[in-house]
Amino acid sequence: MKLESLARPTVLRQPVYEPGKPIETVARELGLDPAGIVKLASNENPFGPSPKAVAAAKRALEQGQLYPDGGCFALRAKLAERHQLAPEQFVPGNGSNEIIELLGHVFLGPGDEVVMGAPAFVVYKLVTLLFGAVAVEVPLRDFAHDLPAMAKAITDRTKLVFVGTPNNPTGTGNPAAALLAFARALPEHVVLVVDEAYAEYDRHAADLRPLIVEGRHVIGLRTFSKIHGLAALRVGYGYGSREMAALLNRVRQPFNVNAIAQAAAVAALDDHAFVERCIRDNQAGLERLAAGARALGLEYAPSAANFLLVKVGDGARWFAELQRQGLIVRPLQPYGLPAWIRITVGTAEQNERLLAAMAVLARG
Ligand SMILES: *Cc1c(COP(=O)(O)O)cnc(C)c1O
Repeated sequence: MKLESLARPTVLRQPVYEPGKPIETVARELGLDPAGIVKLASNENPFGPSPKAVAAAKRALEQGQLYPDGGCFALRAKLAERHQLAPEQFVPGNGSNEIIELLGHVFLGPGDEVVMGAPAFVVYKLVTLLFGAVAVEVPLRDFAHDLPAMAKAITDRTKLVFVGTPNNPTGTGNPAAALLAFARALPEHVVLVVDEAYAEYDRHAADLRPLIVEGRHVIGLRTFSKIHGLAALRVGYGYGSREMAALLNRVRQPFNVNAIAQAAAVAALDDHAFVERCIRDNQAGLERLAAGARALGLEYAPSAANFLLVKVGDGARWFAELQRQGLIVRPLQPYGLPAWIRITVGTAEQNERLLAAMAVLARG
């Protein structure tokens, strides 16, 4: 008997996620020196992790023989302080990706519908399909989620609605007032998931707390992978009502966030100077990349995040040409945007190197 025939049908139908290419892979494939390769493909922080987080992680490693605190007490206490909520309103995750999966465990079954933007973060769709639910994709409007159209797409079968703001892969956010009004008009049988992976970069990001206080069915998702520069450690969280956190905690594995990540995350939350510097430098870099694209006559999406979506014509060719020069960007055919590439804002030096390479390509 073929092993595959024993698998659940949803597993066999499951599409495969294509992550940004690691530096080591590109170096191996193209025979390049990894030291000369710049990765601007996964919206990582070009300034690294906060030094305070690194120090805390090293200290935590000294106690590596012990299981982590399964309840993430210190992290939830720090998050409660930061968001002005109670520790019981947080659910820690192995990256915020894991929280998306936990939402599937709690809320989704065959035939349920999940409303999401297109193009948006592919994990919303992957998790939807994994649980046998139906992905209802609503095209973006002006590069952001089309909230009125998403409201119209909701049916009696809708369980979850995902809104990423700023959205990935466009970088464009929804105005806070529009998001809050959308949330308040949702029917009670729908849970709103607001993916705030890039919220720290966005001056206009909504504050979800009023919705939580009003008892709306809403959850915010945050990550330490972007502004805090801890993508390697895999840590993020969801926050909402106590009921929301309790439901998600039921399906969470006891030690889903390791002790090194917990310690680093707590320290990262205290490193305000690092976060402020990253916001400032990112803003400058984003403006520089946008100005560079304009100078080359290339269209781009308005971004409030740490990346820029640029229309280059043949995205696959640009990706390959840039990669040959040790510059890894993200090609977007998998997102249905073959004419575009997504570029993470790098250091000032990395941005200049990229723009110089782009100028040569644009001249053809
Ligand atoms: C990067 C990103 C995340 C964060 O994923 P982690 O699992 O926390 O690393 C979540 N949502 C979006 C839209 C992202 O781009």
